[in-house]
Amino acid sequence: MDDANGTEGHLPPDGSPGWRLSRRGFLAATIAAAVAACSSNDGDTTSGASIGPTSDATTLPPPPEPSAAATTSAPETTLASPVVSNPFTLGVASGDPLPDSVILWTRLSPDSALPDEDIDVTWEVARDNSFAELVASGTAPAIAALGHSVHVDVQGLEPDSEYTYRFRVGGFESEPARTRTFAPAGVVPERFRFAFSSCQNWEQGYYAAYRDLVEQDGLEAFVFLGDYIYEYETGGYADPRGRSTGQKFECKTVDQYRQRYALYKTDPLLQQAHASVPWVITWDDHEVENDYAGASSENDDDVDAFRTRRAAAYQVWYEHMPVRLDPPTGPDYQIYRSLAHGDLLRFHVLDTRQYRSDQQRSAPFLPALGDAVQVRDNAVALSPEQTMLGETQRGWLIDGMAASDAIWDVLAQQVFMFGGNALQGTDPPVIVVDTWDGYAGERQVLLEAIGPVADNLVVLTGDFHSAAVADLRSDPFDASLPVVGTELMASSISSSFFDDDQTVEDLVAGALQTNPQIKYFDARRGYTLCDVTPTSWRSTFRAVADQFDEASPVETVSTWEITAGTPGAVAV
Ligand code: CA
Ligand code: FE
Repeated sequence: MDDANGTEGHLPPDGSPGWRLSRRGFLAATIAAAVAACSSNDGDTTSGASIGPTSDATTLPPPPEPSAAATTSAPETTLASPVVSNPFTLGVASGDPLPDSVILWTRLSPDSALPDEDIDVTWEVARDNSFAELVASGTAPAIAALGHSVHVDVQGLEPDSEYTYRFRVGGFESEPARTRTFAPAGVVPERFRFAFSSCQNWEQGYYAAYRDLVEQDGLEAFVFLGDYIYEYETGGYADPRGRSTGQKFECKTVDQYRQRYALYKTDPLLQQAHASVPWVITWDDHEVENDYAGASSENDDDVDAFRTRRAAAYQVWYEHMPVRLDPPTGPDYQIYRSLAHGDLLRFHVLDTRQYRSDQQRSAPFLPALGDAVQVRDNAVALSPEQTMLGETQRGWLIDGMAASDAIWDVLAQQVFMFGGNALQGTDPPVIVVDTWDGYAGERQVLLEAIGPVADNLVVLTGDFHSAAVADLRSDPFDASLPVVGTELMASSISSSFFDDDQTVEDLVAGALQTNPQIKYFDARRGYTLCDVTPTSWRSTFRAVADQFDEASPVETVSTWEITAGTPGAVAV
Protein backbone atom coordinates (compact mmCIF):
# COMPACT_ATOMS: atom_id res chain seq x y z
CA MET A 1 0.00 0.00 0.00
CA ASP A 2 2.93 2.19 0.46
CA ASP A 3 3.39 2.11 -3.22
CA ALA A 4 0.42 4.40 -3.51
CA ASN A 5 2.64 6.35 -5.81
CA GLY A 6 3.23 3.15 -7.73
CA THR A 7 3.47 2.58 -11.38
CA GLU A 8 -0.16 2.11 -12.05
CA GLY A 9 -1.14 5.41 -10.57
CA HIS A 10 -3.98 3.85 -8.66
CA LEU A 11 -4.65 3.30 -5.08
CA PRO A 12 -3.23 -0.14 -4.43
CA PRO A 13 -6.14 -2.43 -3.84
CA ASP A 14 -4.84 -3.53 -0.62
CA GLY A 15 -4.15 -0.27 0.91
CA SER A 16 -7.81 0.21 0.71
CA PRO A 17 -8.74 -3.33 1.33
CA GLY A 18 -11.13 -4.67 -1.08
CA TRP A 19 -10.79 -1.53 -3.09
CA ARG A 20 -10.81 -2.24 -6.75
CA LEU A 21 -7.69 -1.15 -8.49
CA SER A 22 -8.28 -1.22 -12.14
CA ARG A 23 -10.92 -3.61 -13.40
CA ARG A 24 -9.79 -6.45 -13.49
CA GLY A 25 -1.62 -45.52 5.30
CA PHE A 26 1.46 -45.18 5.44
CA LEU A 27 0.03 -45.39 8.93
CA ALA A 28 2.59 -44.50 11.47
CA ALA A 29 3.07 -47.54 13.62
CA THR A 30 3.71 -45.28 16.48
CA ILE A 31 0.82 -44.89 18.82
CA ALA A 32 1.81 -43.91 22.27
CA ALA A 33 1.37 -46.77 24.63
CA ALA A 34 -0.71 -44.86 27.08
CA VAL A 35 -3.05 -43.57 24.45
CA ALA A 36 -3.37 -46.89 22.72
CA ALA A 37 -4.35 -48.40 26.02
CA CYS A 38 -7.08 -45.87 26.42
CA SER A 39 -8.41 -46.03 22.88
CA SER A 40 -10.47 -49.09 23.42
CA ASN A 41 -13.05 -48.28 20.79
CA ASP A 42 -10.92 -48.86 17.74
CA GLY A 43 -13.14 -49.06 14.75
CA ASP A 44 -15.87 -47.06 16.39
CA THR A 45 -15.57 -43.78 14.62
CA THR A 46 -18.81 -42.42 15.93
CA SER A 47 -17.77 -41.72 19.47
CA GLY A 48 -15.08 -39.25 18.75
CA ALA A 49 -14.18 -37.01 15.92
CA SER A 50 -16.95 -36.68 13.42
CA ILE A 51 -15.74 -34.02 11.06
CA GLY A 52 -14.64 -34.97 7.62
CA PRO A 53 -12.00 -37.57 8.07
CA THR A 54 -12.70 -40.44 10.36
CA SER A 55 -10.85 -40.46 13.58
CA ASP A 56 -10.73 -42.69 16.56
CA ALA A 57 -11.26 -40.89 19.77
CA THR A 58 -12.25 -41.63 23.27
CA THR A 59 -13.53 -39.44 25.99
CA LEU A 60 -11.80 -40.69 29.06
CA PRO A 61 -12.92 -40.98 32.62
CA PRO A 62 -10.60 -39.39 35.14
CA PRO A 63 -7.08 -40.51 34.33
CA PRO A 64 -5.85 -43.68 35.96
CA GLU A 65 -2.61 -42.09 37.01
CA PRO A 66 -0.77 -38.98 36.10
CA SER A 67 0.64 -40.57 33.04
CA ALA A 68 4.36 -40.71 32.60
CA ALA A 69 3.78 -41.91 29.08
CA ALA A 70 1.91 -38.75 28.33
CA THR A 71 4.88 -36.62 29.16
CA THR A 72 7.62 -38.50 27.40
CA SER A 73 8.04 -39.34 23.81
CA ALA A 74 10.28 -42.31 24.43
CA PRO A 75 7.79 -45.09 23.69
CA GLU A 76 6.84 -43.87 20.29
CA THR A 77 10.23 -43.37 18.73
CA THR A 78 10.83 -47.03 18.21
CA LEU A 79 9.03 -48.13 15.06
CA ALA A 80 9.68 -46.63 11.67
CA SER A 81 7.82 -43.39 11.18
CA PRO A 82 7.56 -41.40 7.99
CA VAL A 83 8.05 -38.32 10.12
CA VAL A 84 11.76 -37.92 10.74
CA SER A 85 11.99 -34.23 11.55
CA ASN A 86 9.77 -31.88 13.53
CA PRO A 87 6.41 -31.84 11.70
CA PHE A 88 4.84 -29.09 13.84
CA THR A 89 6.57 -26.16 12.14
CA LEU A 90 3.23 -24.50 11.35
CA GLY A 91 2.02 -24.64 14.93
CA VAL A 92 -1.32 -25.86 16.20
CA ALA A 93 -4.72 -24.23 16.51
CA SER A 94 -8.23 -24.67 17.81
CA GLY A 95 -11.51 -23.17 16.78
CA ASP A 96 -15.29 -23.12 16.48
CA PRO A 97 -16.02 -24.07 20.11
CA LEU A 98 -19.32 -25.64 21.12
CA PRO A 99 -20.41 -26.37 24.69
CA ASP A 100 -19.00 -29.90 24.46
CA SER A 101 -16.57 -29.73 21.61
CA VAL A 102 -13.78 -27.83 19.92
CA ILE A 103 -11.90 -28.35 16.66
CA LEU A 104 -8.18 -29.01 16.97
CA TRP A 105 -5.91 -28.40 14.01
CA THR A 106 -2.40 -28.97 12.85
CA ARG A 107 -0.72 -29.64 9.54
CA LEU A 108 2.40 -31.78 9.28
CA SER A 109 5.12 -29.79 7.56
CA PRO A 110 8.57 -31.18 8.36
CA ASP A 111 11.66 -30.19 6.43
CA SER A 112 11.93 -33.76 5.23
CA ALA A 113 9.42 -34.98 2.65
CA LEU A 114 6.34 -36.89 3.73
CA PRO A 115 5.00 -39.89 1.83
CA ASP A 116 1.89 -39.32 -0.23
CA GLU A 117 -0.19 -41.26 2.26
CA ASP A 118 -2.21 -40.45 5.34
CA ILE A 119 -0.32 -40.47 8.63
CA ASP A 120 -1.94 -41.10 12.00
CA VAL A 121 -1.37 -38.37 14.55
CA THR A 122 -2.06 -38.70 18.27
CA TRP A 123 -3.91 -35.92 20.04
CA GLU A 124 -4.54 -35.30 23.71
CA VAL A 125 -6.76 -32.91 25.63
CA ALA A 126 -6.14 -32.29 29.32
CA ARG A 127 -7.28 -30.10 32.16
CA ASP A 128 -3.76 -29.06 32.98
CA ASN A 129 -0.56 -28.01 31.27
CA SER A 130 1.31 -31.13 32.33
CA PHE A 131 -1.35 -33.42 30.86
CA ALA A 132 -1.73 -35.21 34.17
CA GLU A 133 -5.50 -34.79 33.98
CA LEU A 134 -6.10 -36.21 30.53
CA VAL A 135 -9.77 -35.95 29.54
CA ALA A 136 -9.74 -37.09 25.91
CA SER A 137 -7.30 -38.51 23.41
CA GLY A 138 -7.16 -40.41 20.18
CA THR A 139 -5.66 -40.56 16.76
CA ALA A 140 -6.64 -38.68 13.65
CA PRO A 141 -5.27 -38.87 10.15
CA ALA A 142 -3.05 -36.21 8.62
CA ILE A 143 -4.65 -36.49 5.21
CA ALA A 144 -2.22 -36.51 2.31
CA ALA A 145 -4.79 -35.22 -0.17
CA LEU A 146 -5.35 -32.25 2.15
CA GLY A 147 -1.71 -31.33 2.60
CA HIS A 148 -1.33 -33.64 5.61
CA SER A 149 -3.63 -31.40 7.61
CA VAL A 150 -5.39 -32.71 10.70
CA HIS A 151 -8.82 -31.67 11.94
CA VAL A 152 -10.12 -33.25 15.13
CA ASP A 153 -13.62 -32.68 16.47
CA VAL A 154 -13.05 -33.38 20.14
CA GLN A 155 -16.29 -34.25 21.85
CA GLY A 156 -17.49 -34.86 25.37
CA LEU A 157 -15.90 -31.77 26.86
CA GLU A 158 -17.36 -29.72 29.70
CA PRO A 159 -19.08 -26.44 28.81
CA ASP A 160 -17.44 -23.08 29.34
CA SER A 161 -14.19 -24.77 30.36
CA GLU A 162 -10.54 -24.35 29.58
CA TYR A 163 -8.33 -27.13 28.23
CA THR A 164 -4.80 -27.83 27.08
CA TYR A 165 -4.11 -29.89 23.97
CA ARG A 166 -1.20 -31.22 21.97
CA PHE A 167 -0.35 -33.51 19.10
CA ARG A 168 2.26 -36.25 18.74
CA VAL A 169 3.66 -38.17 15.80
CA GLY A 170 6.88 -40.03 15.13
CA GLY A 171 8.36 -39.12 18.47
CA PHE A 172 7.69 -35.44 17.97
CA GLU A 173 5.34 -33.53 20.22
CA SER A 174 3.76 -30.14 19.63
CA GLU A 175 3.91 -27.42 22.21
CA PRO A 176 0.89 -27.55 24.52
CA ALA A 177 -1.78 -25.08 23.53
CA ARG A 178 -4.82 -23.61 25.26
CA THR A 179 -8.43 -23.75 24.17
CA ARG A 180 -11.88 -23.55 25.70
CA THR A 181 -15.51 -24.43 25.12
CA PHE A 182 -18.53 -22.14 24.95
CA ALA A 183 -21.47 -22.14 27.35
CA PRO A 184 -24.64 -24.12 26.52
CA ALA A 185 -28.03 -22.79 25.50
CA GLY A 186 -30.19 -21.68 28.40
CA VAL A 187 -27.26 -20.32 30.36
CA VAL A 188 -26.36 -16.65 30.43
CA PRO A 189 -22.67 -16.30 31.28
CA GLU A 190 -21.89 -13.24 33.37
CA ARG A 191 -19.18 -12.13 31.02
CA PHE A 192 -17.44 -13.00 27.79
CA ARG A 193 -14.13 -11.59 26.62
CA PHE A 194 -13.09 -11.91 22.99
CA ALA A 195 -11.10 -9.95 20.43
CA PHE A 196 -11.29 -9.53 16.69
CA SER A 197 -9.25 -8.28 13.76
CA SER A 198 -8.37 -9.13 10.16
CA CYS A 199 -5.82 -8.61 7.38
CA GLN A 200 -2.27 -9.77 8.02
CA ASN A 201 -0.28 -8.94 4.89
CA TRP A 202 3.18 -10.45 5.37
CA GLU A 203 4.85 -7.85 3.21
CA GLN A 204 3.34 -4.81 4.93
CA GLY A 205 4.38 -5.37 8.51
CA TYR A 206 4.85 -7.60 11.53
CA TYR A 207 2.42 -9.17 13.96
CA ALA A 208 3.04 -7.12 17.11
CA ALA A 209 -0.73 -7.03 17.59
CA TYR A 210 -0.69 -10.78 18.26
CA ARG A 211 2.07 -10.40 20.83
CA ASP A 212 -0.21 -8.01 22.67
CA LEU A 213 -3.25 -10.24 22.15
CA VAL A 214 -1.70 -13.24 23.88
CA GLU A 215 -0.79 -11.05 26.85
CA GLN A 216 -4.46 -10.24 27.50
CA ASP A 217 -5.95 -11.95 30.51
CA GLY A 218 -9.00 -14.12 30.24
CA LEU A 219 -9.46 -14.07 26.49
CA GLU A 220 -12.08 -16.64 25.47
CA ALA A 221 -12.11 -16.39 21.67
CA PHE A 222 -10.53 -14.54 18.77
CA VAL A 223 -12.57 -13.74 15.68
CA PHE A 224 -10.64 -13.34 12.43
CA LEU A 225 -12.55 -11.61 9.65
CA GLY A 226 -10.47 -12.48 6.61
CA ASP A 227 -7.39 -11.71 4.52
CA TYR A 228 -5.40 -14.35 6.39
CA ILE A 229 -3.02 -14.42 3.44
CA TYR A 230 -2.47 -12.11 0.49
CA GLU A 231 -2.22 -13.82 -2.86
CA TYR A 232 0.09 -11.33 -4.57
CA GLU A 233 3.43 -12.13 -6.10
CA THR A 234 6.20 -10.94 -3.83
CA GLY A 235 6.62 -7.20 -4.20
CA GLY A 236 2.97 -6.66 -5.08
CA TYR A 237 1.92 -3.84 -2.80
CA ALA A 238 4.83 -4.66 -0.53
CA ASP A 239 6.28 -2.16 1.88
CA PRO A 240 10.07 -1.89 1.85
CA ARG A 241 9.97 -1.67 5.62
CA GLY A 242 8.11 -4.99 5.78
CA ARG A 243 9.33 -8.48 4.96
CA SER A 244 9.35 -10.46 1.75
CA THR A 245 7.58 -13.71 1.03
CA GLY A 246 10.27 -14.43 -1.52
CA GLN A 247 7.55 -16.16 -3.54
CA LYS A 248 7.65 -15.08 -7.17
CA PHE A 249 4.11 -16.04 -8.04
CA GLU A 250 0.57 -14.87 -7.49
CA CYS A 251 -1.24 -17.78 -5.84
CA LYS A 252 -3.45 -19.69 -8.24
CA THR A 253 -2.82 -23.37 -7.64
CA VAL A 254 -3.10 -25.67 -4.64
CA ASP A 255 0.67 -25.85 -4.38
CA GLN A 256 1.04 -22.08 -4.53
CA TYR A 257 -1.63 -21.36 -1.95
CA ARG A 258 -0.05 -24.04 0.29
CA GLN A 259 3.32 -22.36 0.06
CA ARG A 260 1.77 -19.03 0.99
CA TYR A 261 -0.17 -20.30 4.01
CA ALA A 262 2.81 -22.35 5.14
CA LEU A 263 4.99 -19.24 5.10
CA TYR A 264 2.48 -17.12 7.02
CA LYS A 265 1.99 -19.94 9.52
CA THR A 266 5.68 -19.92 10.43
CA ASP A 267 5.29 -16.55 12.14
CA PRO A 268 5.88 -17.21 15.84
CA LEU A 269 3.47 -14.52 17.02
CA LEU A 270 0.70 -15.85 14.79
CA GLN A 271 1.40 -19.34 16.14
CA GLN A 272 1.17 -18.04 19.70
CA ALA A 273 -2.11 -16.33 18.96
CA HIS A 274 -3.56 -19.60 17.68
CA ALA A 275 -2.11 -21.57 20.60
CA SER A 276 -3.56 -19.27 23.23
CA VAL A 277 -7.26 -19.12 22.35
CA PRO A 278 -9.81 -20.74 20.00
CA TRP A 279 -10.43 -18.81 16.80
CA VAL A 280 -13.65 -18.23 14.89
CA ILE A 281 -12.62 -17.58 11.30
CA THR A 282 -14.14 -16.40 8.08
CA TRP A 283 -12.50 -15.34 4.86
CA ASP A 284 -12.50 -12.21 2.72
CA ASP A 285 -11.17 -11.67 -0.80
CA HIS A 286 -7.42 -12.21 -0.52
CA GLU A 287 -7.77 -15.84 0.45
CA VAL A 288 -8.58 -16.16 -3.26
CA GLU A 289 -7.97 -12.90 -5.12
CA ASN A 290 -8.32 -9.18 -4.47
CA ASP A 291 -11.90 -7.97 -4.82
CA TYR A 292 -13.32 -11.10 -6.37
CA ALA A 293 -17.10 -11.35 -6.33
CA GLY A 294 -18.76 -14.71 -6.82
CA ALA A 295 -17.35 -16.12 -10.04
CA SER A 296 -16.13 -12.70 -11.19
CA SER A 297 -12.41 -12.27 -10.78
CA GLU A 298 -10.75 -8.94 -10.37
CA ASN A 299 -9.54 -8.96 -13.95
CA ASP A 300 -12.43 -10.72 -15.63
CA ASP A 301 -10.76 -14.07 -15.99
CA ASP A 302 -12.59 -16.86 -17.72
CA VAL A 303 -15.28 -18.00 -15.29
CA ASP A 304 -14.38 -21.68 -15.42
CA ALA A 305 -10.71 -20.92 -14.89
CA PHE A 306 -11.55 -18.65 -11.98
CA ARG A 307 -13.81 -21.24 -10.38
CA THR A 308 -10.94 -23.74 -10.64
CA ARG A 309 -8.71 -21.23 -8.88
CA ARG A 310 -11.39 -20.64 -6.28
CA ALA A 311 -11.63 -24.38 -5.60
CA ALA A 312 -7.88 -24.54 -5.03
CA ALA A 313 -7.99 -21.52 -2.73
CA TYR A 314 -10.94 -22.80 -0.73
CA GLN A 315 -9.34 -26.22 -0.28
CA VAL A 316 -6.07 -24.78 0.98
CA TRP A 317 -7.90 -22.35 3.26
CA TYR A 318 -9.64 -25.36 4.83
CA GLU A 319 -6.33 -27.20 5.15
CA HIS A 320 -4.96 -24.41 7.32
CA MET A 321 -7.94 -23.35 9.42
CA PRO A 322 -9.37 -24.87 12.64
CA VAL A 323 -12.91 -24.73 11.32
CA ARG A 324 -15.92 -26.93 12.04
CA LEU A 325 -16.48 -27.75 8.40
CA ASP A 326 -16.09 -30.68 6.07
CA PRO A 327 -13.42 -30.16 3.46
CA PRO A 328 -14.63 -28.59 0.21
CA THR A 329 -15.08 -30.69 -2.87
CA GLY A 330 -15.00 -27.92 -5.45
CA PRO A 331 -15.48 -24.20 -5.96
CA ASP A 332 -18.74 -24.06 -3.98
CA TYR A 333 -18.20 -24.23 -0.26
CA GLN A 334 -20.55 -23.09 2.45
CA ILE A 335 -18.64 -21.61 5.37
CA TYR A 336 -21.28 -19.30 6.83
CA ARG A 337 -22.34 -20.67 10.17
CA SER A 338 -23.28 -19.56 13.66
CA LEU A 339 -21.92 -20.22 17.14
CA ALA A 340 -23.27 -19.11 20.50
CA HIS A 341 -21.79 -18.59 23.93
CA GLY A 342 -24.86 -19.58 25.92
CA ASP A 343 -27.67 -17.08 25.59
CA LEU A 344 -25.27 -14.18 26.03
CA LEU A 345 -23.96 -13.82 22.50
CA ARG A 346 -24.34 -15.46 19.09
CA PHE A 347 -21.88 -15.04 16.25
CA HIS A 348 -23.47 -15.18 12.81
CA VAL A 349 -20.35 -15.76 10.71
CA LEU A 350 -20.83 -14.52 7.15
CA ASP A 351 -19.26 -15.02 3.73
CA THR A 352 -19.59 -11.79 1.75
CA ARG A 353 -17.48 -12.95 -1.24
CA GLN A 354 -18.63 -16.26 -2.63
CA TYR A 355 -22.22 -15.29 -3.42
CA ARG A 356 -21.69 -11.64 -4.36
CA SER A 357 -22.82 -9.80 -7.41
CA ASP A 358 -19.93 -8.10 -9.16
CA GLN A 359 -19.11 -4.59 -7.98
CA GLN A 360 -20.52 -1.70 -9.99
CA ARG A 361 -18.28 -0.50 -12.77
CA SER A 362 -18.63 3.23 -13.17
CA ALA A 363 -15.85 5.73 -13.74
CA PRO A 364 -13.36 6.41 -10.94
CA PHE A 365 -14.30 9.35 -8.76
CA LEU A 366 -10.68 10.41 -8.57
CA PRO A 367 -8.05 8.89 -10.83
CA ALA A 368 -5.73 8.50 -7.86
CA LEU A 369 -8.23 6.15 -6.24
CA GLY A 370 -8.70 3.90 -9.21
CA ASP A 371 -11.97 2.00 -9.28
CA ALA A 372 -12.21 1.85 -5.50
CA VAL A 373 -14.32 4.97 -5.12
CA GLN A 374 -17.13 5.85 -7.53
CA VAL A 375 -20.35 7.78 -7.66
CA ARG A 376 -22.95 5.22 -6.63
CA ASP A 377 -24.82 3.75 -9.58
CA ASN A 378 -28.28 3.54 -8.08
CA ALA A 379 -29.53 1.30 -10.86
CA VAL A 380 -27.01 -1.26 -9.60
CA ALA A 381 -26.69 -0.58 -5.88
CA LEU A 382 -30.43 -0.38 -5.20
CA SER A 383 -31.41 -3.26 -7.46
CA PRO A 384 -32.92 -6.28 -5.72
CA GLU A 385 -30.59 -8.35 -7.86
CA GLN A 386 -27.45 -6.76 -6.43
CA THR A 387 -26.42 -9.01 -3.54
CA MET A 388 -23.58 -9.32 -1.07
CA LEU A 389 -24.88 -12.42 0.72
CA GLY A 390 -26.85 -14.30 -1.91
CA GLU A 391 -30.47 -15.17 -1.34
CA THR A 392 -29.83 -18.41 0.55
CA GLN A 393 -27.36 -16.95 3.03
CA ARG A 394 -29.53 -13.86 3.51
CA GLY A 395 -32.53 -16.03 4.33
CA TRP A 396 -30.44 -18.15 6.67
CA LEU A 397 -29.24 -15.03 8.47
CA ILE A 398 -32.68 -13.46 8.83
CA ASP A 399 -34.17 -16.75 10.07
CA GLY A 400 -31.24 -17.33 12.41
CA MET A 401 -31.55 -13.88 13.84
CA ALA A 402 -35.26 -14.37 14.48
CA ALA A 403 -34.64 -17.73 16.15
CA SER A 404 -31.72 -16.55 18.26
CA ASP A 405 -32.13 -16.39 22.03
CA ALA A 406 -28.93 -14.40 22.43
CA ILE A 407 -28.89 -11.06 24.19
CA TRP A 408 -26.26 -9.90 21.67
CA ASP A 409 -26.61 -10.95 18.05
CA VAL A 410 -23.33 -10.40 16.30
CA LEU A 411 -22.50 -10.41 12.61
CA ALA A 412 -18.91 -11.49 12.05
CA GLN A 413 -18.39 -10.19 8.55
CA GLN A 414 -15.98 -8.37 6.27
CA VAL A 415 -16.80 -5.00 4.70
CA PHE A 416 -18.22 -1.91 6.36
CA MET A 417 -21.95 -1.55 6.54
CA PHE A 418 -22.16 1.89 8.20
CA GLY A 419 -21.87 3.75 4.90
CA GLY A 420 -19.73 6.63 3.84
CA ASN A 421 -20.26 9.44 1.35
CA ALA A 422 -16.99 11.02 0.25
CA LEU A 423 -18.87 14.23 -0.45
CA GLN A 424 -21.26 16.12 1.74
CA GLY A 425 -24.89 15.27 1.18
CA THR A 426 -24.65 14.38 -2.51
CA ASP A 427 -27.23 12.04 -3.96
CA PRO A 428 -26.22 9.61 -5.19
CA PRO A 429 -23.33 9.42 -2.76
CA VAL A 430 -19.68 8.84 -3.61
CA ILE A 431 -18.89 5.40 -2.21
CA VAL A 432 -16.30 2.69 -1.76
CA VAL A 433 -17.88 0.28 -4.22
CA ASP A 434 -16.64 -2.94 -2.58
CA THR A 435 -18.46 -2.19 0.69
CA TRP A 436 -22.14 -2.48 1.60
CA ASP A 437 -22.61 0.95 0.02
CA GLY A 438 -22.36 -0.81 -3.34
CA TYR A 439 -25.13 -3.16 -2.19
CA ALA A 440 -27.35 -0.57 -0.54
CA GLY A 441 -30.65 -2.18 -1.52
CA GLU A 442 -29.76 -5.45 0.14
CA ARG A 443 -28.39 -3.61 3.17
CA GLN A 444 -31.71 -1.87 3.59
CA VAL A 445 -33.69 -5.12 3.28
CA LEU A 446 -31.36 -6.85 5.71
CA LEU A 447 -31.30 -4.16 8.39
CA GLU A 448 -35.05 -3.64 8.19
CA ALA A 449 -35.46 -7.39 8.72
CA ILE A 450 -32.92 -8.03 11.46
CA GLY A 451 -32.80 -4.68 13.25
CA PRO A 452 -36.18 -5.11 14.92
CA VAL A 453 -35.76 -8.82 15.81
CA ALA A 454 -32.22 -8.73 17.15
CA ASP A 455 -32.27 -7.82 20.82
CA ASN A 456 -28.96 -6.08 20.33
CA LEU A 457 -27.35 -6.05 16.89
CA VAL A 458 -23.59 -5.63 16.73
CA VAL A 459 -21.77 -5.83 13.41
CA LEU A 460 -18.08 -6.73 13.48
CA THR A 461 -16.12 -5.62 10.44
CA GLY A 462 -12.60 -5.99 9.07
CA ASP A 463 -11.20 -5.40 5.58
CA PHE A 464 -10.63 -1.66 5.72
CA HIS A 465 -7.29 -1.68 7.57
CA SER A 466 -8.56 0.93 9.95
CA ALA A 467 -10.76 1.03 13.02
CA ALA A 468 -14.17 2.64 13.45
CA VAL A 469 -17.26 2.83 15.61
CA ALA A 470 -20.52 3.70 13.89
CA ASP A 471 -24.29 3.78 14.09
CA LEU A 472 -26.21 1.53 11.72
CA ARG A 473 -29.28 2.74 9.87
CA SER A 474 -31.00 0.96 7.00
CA ASP A 475 -30.06 3.99 4.91
CA PRO A 476 -26.92 5.46 6.45
CA PHE A 477 -27.45 8.77 4.73
CA ASP A 478 -30.93 9.37 6.18
CA ALA A 479 -30.39 10.55 9.75
CA SER A 480 -34.13 10.59 10.38
CA LEU A 481 -34.14 6.79 10.44
CA PRO A 482 -33.70 4.92 13.72
CA VAL A 483 -30.35 3.46 14.71
CA VAL A 484 -30.85 -0.32 14.58
CA GLY A 485 -27.43 -1.54 15.56
CA THR A 486 -23.81 -0.75 16.28
CA GLU A 487 -20.86 -1.41 14.00
CA LEU A 488 -17.38 -2.01 15.33
CA MET A 489 -14.63 -2.12 12.75
CA ALA A 490 -11.29 -3.47 13.93
CA SER A 491 -8.15 -2.42 12.17
CA SER A 492 -5.71 -4.82 10.53
CA ILE A 493 -3.01 -6.92 12.13
CA SER A 494 -0.36 -5.77 9.64
CA SER A 495 -1.96 -4.58 6.38
CA SER A 496 -1.46 -0.90 5.60
CA PHE A 497 -4.05 1.81 5.22
CA PHE A 498 -3.22 4.89 3.19
CA ASP A 499 0.03 5.78 4.81
CA ASP A 500 1.61 8.44 2.72
CA ASP A 501 -1.12 9.22 0.21
CA GLN A 502 -2.19 12.76 0.96
CA THR A 503 -5.08 12.70 -1.51
CA VAL A 504 -6.65 9.79 0.27
CA GLU A 505 -5.95 11.14 3.72
CA ASP A 506 -7.63 14.39 2.78
CA LEU A 507 -10.62 12.57 1.37
CA VAL A 508 -11.01 10.50 4.53
CA ALA A 509 -10.61 13.51 6.78
CA GLY A 510 -13.30 15.32 4.84
CA ALA A 511 -15.64 12.35 4.85
CA LEU A 512 -15.36 12.02 8.62
CA GLN A 513 -16.62 15.59 8.94
CA THR A 514 -19.71 14.90 6.89
CA ASN A 515 -20.69 11.37 7.94
CA PRO A 516 -21.91 11.69 11.51
CA GLN A 517 -22.81 8.00 11.66
CA ILE A 518 -19.06 7.36 11.95
CA LYS A 519 -18.26 8.26 15.53
CA TYR A 520 -14.64 7.14 15.63
CA PHE A 521 -11.95 6.36 13.10
CA ASP A 522 -8.28 5.37 13.45
CA ALA A 523 -5.94 4.23 10.69
CA ARG A 524 -3.29 2.52 12.80
CA ARG A 525 -2.78 -1.26 12.88
CA GLY A 526 -4.40 -3.13 15.73
CA TYR A 527 -7.31 -5.15 17.03
CA THR A 528 -10.38 -4.70 19.21
CA LEU A 529 -11.08 -6.30 22.59
CA CYS A 530 -14.70 -6.83 23.61
CA ASP A 531 -15.91 -7.36 27.17
CA VAL A 532 -19.52 -8.45 27.01
CA THR A 533 -22.02 -8.81 29.83
CA PRO A 534 -25.81 -9.19 29.75
CA THR A 535 -26.19 -5.44 30.18
CA SER A 536 -23.21 -3.88 28.47
CA TRP A 537 -20.61 -4.28 25.75
CA ARG A 538 -17.28 -2.53 26.11
CA SER A 539 -14.88 -2.39 23.18
CA THR A 540 -11.26 -1.40 23.65
CA PHE A 541 -9.30 -0.43 20.56
CA ARG A 542 -5.65 -1.45 20.74
CA ALA A 543 -3.24 0.19 18.29
CA VAL A 544 0.27 -0.79 17.20
CA ALA A 545 2.77 2.06 17.45
CA ASP A 546 5.03 0.75 14.65
CA GLN A 547 3.77 -1.96 12.33
CA PHE A 548 7.30 -2.58 11.08
CA ASP A 549 8.59 -3.49 14.53
CA GLU A 550 7.70 -6.92 15.89
CA ALA A 551 8.43 -5.61 19.38
CA SER A 552 6.33 -2.48 18.95
CA PRO A 553 4.35 -1.16 21.88
CA VAL A 554 0.61 -1.70 21.58
CA GLU A 555 -1.69 0.56 23.51
CA THR A 556 -5.32 1.37 24.12
CA VAL A 557 -6.34 4.32 21.98
CA SER A 558 -10.09 4.41 22.50
CA THR A 559 -12.82 2.71 24.51
CA TRP A 560 -16.52 2.53 23.63
CA GLU A 561 -19.53 1.10 25.40
CA ILE A 562 -22.91 -0.12 24.22
CA THR A 563 -25.73 -0.43 26.74
CA ALA A 564 -28.05 -3.35 26.08
CA GLY A 565 -31.33 -2.06 24.72
CA THR A 566 -29.81 1.11 23.27
CA PRO A 567 -28.12 0.72 19.88
CA GLY A 568 -25.12 2.93 19.28
CA ALA A 569 -21.86 3.08 21.21
CA VAL A 570 -20.78 5.85 23.55
CA ALA A 571 -17.18 6.86 24.16
CA VAL A 572 -15.96 5.95 27.62
CA1 CA B 1 -10.23 -7.44 1.98
FE1 FE C 1 -7.04 -6.74 3.79
